[in-house]
Amino acid sequence: MKKLFRPIIVSAALLLASAGVQAQDLLAAQSPLDKQMAFVDSIALRDMLLNEANMFPADELYDEWSNDHVRFKAELPDSFCVDLRGFAMPTTNTKITDIFGYRPRRRRVHNGIDIKVYVGDTIRSAFDGKVRIVKNQGRRRGYGKYVVIRHNNGIETLYGHLSKWLVTEGQNVKAGQPIALGGNTGRSSGSHLHFETLLAGKNLNPALMFDFEKQDVTGDFYTYRKGVYQEIDKKTGKIVESAEPLYHKVRKGESLSVIARKCGVPVNTLYRLNKLTSRSVLRIGQRIRYR
Ligand SMILES: [Zn+2]
Repeated sequence: MKKLFRPIIVSAALLLASAGVQAQDLLAAQSPLDKQMAFVDSIALRDMLLNEANMFPADELYDEWSNDHVRFKAELPDSFCVDLRGFAMPTTNTKITDIFGYRPRRRRVHNGIDIKVYVGDTIRSAFDGKVRIVKNQGRRRGYGKYVVIRHNNGIETLYGHLSKWLVTEGQNVKAGQPIALGGNTGRSSGSHLHFETLLAGKNLNPALMFDFEKQDVTGDFYTYRKGVYQEIDKKTGKIVESAEPLYHKVRKGESLSVIARKCGVPVNTLYRLNKLTSRSVLRIGQRIRYR
């Protein structure tokens, strides 16, 4: 429905604008009824134009259009509401093989979630939008063949480890439109889809918006709030909010109890947040979350 909305609005606005001119012509010779008509027209017109502006929240977030980088520095609003209606699931596969987040054992961040797909499976655009990047990071490197789409609702999605592209940079796409075929390119062991959701260049947990197991979105809207850390409660599956996580970088000679004292938190908090035990060995430079 949303897909058809823009052209309809544009033509309706034009019609109304021309109708307004006619109403004015009539107004000179005729009754207050025309005045009322003109009033209704202008309100309807204003609402339609406002609606039209709201249909492209991406315009508020991004000044630039370039295929240089997946992530970039941009001003994030204090809060931003992502309209998830009109979504399409990127794949019909439901098996999550890796989740989003920092992985202490590998000392790196996983910026997306992995969904099992087979080579040749159709990968679809999550929303209406425009293809920003179609690139290959090469054999055994990073994403392999990947696609980044900037969506009208403000978020960007990335699809990695693809075997074949079906779109080109700058192409407009509709939600559900096939954009690529699943694969095993790049740093990948076993074919899967690496899927990221980004807002103004910042990675958000895709599970805050997409539930691949249920093949659905988490709601009609997802609201991002600055300084608030949002994650999925594993038991309830609901979005829970807490303060943005904070990290301490381990320095030479520091133990967990020393770090706990420096950060002003009980050592048990460090165990819990980092899935560590009293027997865990720390490495210099390791990131320890303390909030
Ligand atoms: Zn991944």
